[in-house]
Amino acid sequence: MNKIKIMQSSVAKWNRIIEGKGTDGGVLDCPPCRIYYPVICTGCPIAEYGGKKFCKASPYPEWYHHQNNVHGFLRRKIYCPECLRLATEMRDYMIEIVEYLKQKEIEQQKAAAKSDESVNDCC
Ligand SMILES: [Zn+2]
Repeated sequence: MNKIKIMQSSVAKWNRIIEGKGTDGGVLDCPPCRIYYPVICTGCPIAEYGGKKFCKASPYPEWYHHQNNVHGFLRRKIYCPECLRLATEMRDYMIEIVEYLKQKEIEQQKAAAKSDESVNDCC
């Protein structure tokens, strides 16, 4: 599966949470976790982008701790303005990664086009 599509479904997951229509099931309903968690985050776009495994470089730990500390280990969803702020940060971080992956794809295509040209030059 295409990494950009995986991250877009992650954006959709957080949008549902922000709209109050969804909850956060962590690893169980995180689109990249379903693929990369069993291999301990190897190849996960979030881990690659932040440079840390288990979403430690993302806004996720803050959201997780806020949920547990303030809302007492209930289902993780929007309960207060702080929840909304943290979920929005997480959604925006997912968008940032989608944009980063798109940019990387464009650069790879450019690089591939260039190497085609150089082949033409010497043959
Ligand atoms: Zn809250």
